[in-house]
Amino acid sequence: MAELLPPANVAWADRNHPFNYTSHRGHRKPPNSTPNPMHQLALPDALCYNRLPIMAKADRNHPADRNHPNGAPKVDLYNLSLAEIEALIASWDDLCSPAAQHRAPGFYAREIWDSLYRRTATAFEEMATLPQELRERLAAETSFLVPSVLARQEAPDGETRKDLLQLADGEQIEVVLLRYLKRRSGCISTQIGCACGCPFCATGQMGFVRQLTSGEIVAQVLHLQRELATRGRKLSNVVLMGMGEPLLNYEQVLAAMRRLTDQRGFGLAQRRITLSTVGIAPGIERLSDESLNIGLAISLHAATDALRNQLVPINQRYPLDDLFAAVAHYTTQTQRRVMFEWIMIDGVNDTPQQAEALTARLAGLPAHVNLMRLNPTPDYDQRPSTAAAMEAFAAALDRAHIPHTMRQRRGGAIAAGCGQLRPQRVETIRERRDNI
Ligand code: SF4
Repeated sequence: MAELLPPANVAWADRNHPFNYTSHRGHRKPPNSTPNPMHQLALPDALCYNRLPIMAKADRNHPADRNHPNGAPKVDLYNLSLAEIEALIASWDDLCSPAAQHRAPGFYAREIWDSLYRRTATAFEEMATLPQELRERLAAETSFLVPSVLARQEAPDGETRKDLLQLADGEQIEVVLLRYLKRRSGCISTQIGCACGCPFCATGQMGFVRQLTSGEIVAQVLHLQRELATRGRKLSNVVLMGMGEPLLNYEQVLAAMRRLTDQRGFGLAQRRITLSTVGIAPGIERLSDESLNIGLAISLHAATDALRNQLVPINQRYPLDDLFAAVAHYTTQTQRRVMFEWIMIDGVNDTPQQAEALTARLAGLPAHVNLMRLNPTPDYDQRPSTAAAMEAFAAALDRAHIPHTMRQRRGGAIAAGCGQLRPQRVETIRERRDNI
């Protein structure tokens, strides 16, 4: 397997690029090298999406609507904490006259926060508790992303739904809603594309496009919540398991988690968030020290470096010894059990040798293993494991007293299963308008 290489035309000086990630413990950056063709963006034509009617709200995302009257970009309120919104309001002297000090700016900031996160407002006009003057100023200088739904797919069982969302710059991401008996989980994205290049993963196959902002991560959750609220429901769980590697967008992901778990706003319990990583060891170490009570899932898929280097190329940078040292640090710091995801691939990682290596790795660790059959993706020609191979693998875990689950293959019918997220090329609202 080729060494992991950065995408073309991304300078090392770009602090936001995932490969420029370095931990506070001083893990190294990769060597400079030439572009990897695997990371070039290639979007196929849409074959399977059901187009939705164009929604009027989509136009709020047109670039012309994203700028301040003086030409500067508008501030995305979802990118701000409550304190930052308060500071912004306080900076508008004319709106915070001494006569109004008993209400502003803390009062107004809390009203805005409430509208954004509890009432999931879609426009400033809905913030009826704010003075008209303030609403106009907010509309002129700030915005918040209400993503346009470009396409929607519903699984035949009606329990899984995938939305293709358009962001303010026209980029597209996918978000999945999974309805279980007692909970409703949102699987959300943290990057557009992914640079890690896991060969079985549709997101990895499309390459890295850009990081999502904390506001864009938050906006996905609120998008799902708006839909659920129409049926009197609330999103109960969030899994960061959509497009992208969350720990390679660390700051934005952390800010989004803190915003969503703020009890003055959306109020999601920290324990209801699960962050799934492919094994960015320094990111796991850093996360361990954040005093967060979130769940951690590791996409392991192989228990020997030789095989994992092929299935999860980032393993070349953070091999299993480094990964398990970071996981041990996480379990010590948080006292939480770690989930290990294992996509079962016929004849590749479902062998007795891999089962033995896995049980050895997990000995003494508070762990749970999720076994999932491989979901098909366009550019990976391996097959899912047989039922017999899965049973044999699970039996080996049983003998080693390692808790495990054979997870339901949710979302496979609409390519919303694990590793299948990848926006299909659809005609965007902007393109339609330009073609008129
Ligand atoms: S499995 Fe995760 S880390 Fe690997 S390419 Fe896909 S999104 Fe990236």
